[in-house]
Amino acid sequence: MKPPPFDYLAPGSLDETLGLLAEKGGEAKVLAGGQSLVPVLNFRLAQPTFLVDLNGVDELDYIEVEDDGSVRIGAMARQRRLELDTRVHGQVPLLAVTMPLIAHPQIRNRGTVGGSLAHADPSGELPVAAVALEAELVLRSHRGERTVPAADFCQGLMTTALAEDELLCELRVRATPRRTGWEFREIARRHGDYAHAGVAARLTLGDDGKISAARLVYLSAGEVPMSAVRACAILEGEQPSEELFAEAALTAGRDEVDPSDDIHATAAFKRHLAEALTRRVLATALDRAKVA
Ligand SMILES: Cc1cc2nc3c(=O)[nH]c(=O)nc-3n(C[C@H](O)[C@H](O)[C@H](O)COP(=O)(O)OP(=O)(O)OC[C@H]3O[C@@H](n4cnc5c(N)ncnc54)[C@H](O)[C@@H]3O)c2cc1C
Repeated sequence: MKPPPFDYLAPGSLDETLGLLAEKGGEAKVLAGGQSLVPVLNFRLAQPTFLVDLNGVDELDYIEVEDDGSVRIGAMARQRRLELDTRVHGQVPLLAVTMPLIAHPQIRNRGTVGGSLAHADPSGELPVAAVALEAELVLRSHRGERTVPAADFCQGLMTTALAEDELLCELRVRATPRRTGWEFREIARRHGDYAHAGVAARLTLGDDGKISAARLVYLSAGEVPMSAVRACAILEGEQPSEELFAEAALTAGRDEVDPSDDIHATAAFKRHLAEALTRRVLATALDRAKVA
């Protein structure tokens, strides 16, 4: 199918973009890499009156590593650029293992960091990694700027905290603390497909060898990235062991993830995958934490 008719607007600056969004509000959609929006338009699932193309807004295309190791990523930075940025990988290694899981290189060449977050697909990897990293998102409108924790950004199925006149401008991530391990694994029918199940993990060890902090965040496990808080509570304060990881994995898979049946897999199978993946990511995160 062809998209419905729309007026194409191509601002050359952030100020101009925010002015257009203030003027057009809910009648406008912004276009980033187009990897999700163009199919949505072609299927006529969205029928905006105005399409505001961000590809001429160079101010949004950057990746900066600050002196304290924190990373600022502009919304229009391509996914592939983040995947290849070794400065970022040194500070936030979870992003290095996350980016290759997203679709295929051709899609990552066009797809943007901001587009992936704003699209808020519950099967998307980047929103999950952002929650696991306790990242922050910077939103701007003609009214000003606000910062939203990644955990509060996705609010429902493909629904975010963005107001109609707001633009997602930046992803901010702190450097990974020492003695912290990480991993992201998923199971998909073919590499590059949206995954049936997946989990990002971070594990920090205290000087006594006990787990001082744990994060487990799941994709395809509900309408938004799902944090397994009960499983993490089982882990925190304890000496890591296979038995402990198995108990946390069982809790996450049985009691916390909330997947749906679809044509490829039943919810029960996805719960089983979530449990198995949790055991694996915790084991890898532990190995990495010991040497980090
Ligand atoms: C075959 C295929 C397989 C894929 N597999 C995966 C996968 O496995 N995992 C995965 O995570 N993704 C996958 N994707 C999606 C891909 O990662 C997209 O690039 C991404 O979801 C959207 O990024 P984009 O830059 O293309 O955004 P667009 O498609 O341009 O926009 C997506 C949405 O976000 C909004 N938007 C974009 N930028 C902003 C902004 N700065 N502020 C506010 N709103 C904004 C748009 O208005 C639109 O509603 C796949 C896509 C395809 C075509």
